[in-house]
Amino acid sequence: GARDGLGAYISKPETYPPNVVVYHDEDFVAIHDMFPKSSLHLLLLPRDQNKTRLHPFDAFEDAEFLANVRAETQKLRTLAAGELRRKYGKDSGQEQARQAALSTDPPPDELPQGRDWEKEIVVGVHAVPSMNHLHVHVLSVDRYSERLKHRKHYNSFSTPFFVPIDDFPLAPDDERRRPTEAGYLKRDFACWRCGKVFGNRFTELKQHLEQEFKDWKKL
Ligand code: 5GP
Ligand code: ZN
Repeated sequence: GARDGLGAYISKPETYPPNVVVYHDEDFVAIHDMFPKSSLHLLLLPRDQNKTRLHPFDAFEDAEFLANVRAETQKLRTLAAGELRRKYGKDSGQEQARQAALSTDPPPDELPQGRDWEKEIVVGVHAVPSMNHLHVHVLSVDRYSERLKHRKHYNSFSTPFFVPIDDFPLAPDDERRRPTEAGYLKRDFACWRCGKVFGNRFTELKQHLEQEFKDWKKL
């Protein structure tokens, strides 16, 4: 069924073009989310047959597996940050080289690093995944996308419904283990960047997200 749609990437990653499957090896497949909820939205799919059908909360009880997944998401975070730098960065290599050439000062030991785009990437899972195969979201913080069409789309990435990979393992009494009771998806919309609250006014939220996106990428 539709909830099994991620299985094909795990079983036959080599059959997809590079704009769909970013990379694959024995243990992981990294793909572009087909319905991205941010300007950059990737998914990491572990291939371990003993894990791929588990809920992430259960899969990540295995400390060694969690460590491996976390290490791989760090690679993907770095890759995603590089993509943001290419797309939005004003601190291009050319610009740095030009400034270095104009300067009469002795060259610094290290070139200025520019913006840390890794900070602009979030990594985690949904407390209630809709797709059956274990997957970790790796996405830019902007939540700016045409595909962000439904109320629950926004809150699923902007409330504790989204569980950062670094929060695992969860404590036994962590309230995110009972996400429906907590009502995360029904919460008032709050801007991820400035915290402004929009109640349930989705159109206004979307307009605000567009403005925040423009400011965020120029920052
Ligand atoms: P979940 O809500 O289960 O954590 O997220 C599943 C993600 O998979 C969603 O962001 C959705 O857009 C994405 N998705 C659903 N079907 C497909 C598909 O067939 N291909 C790809 N690449 N992504 C998909
Ligand atoms: Zn805002």
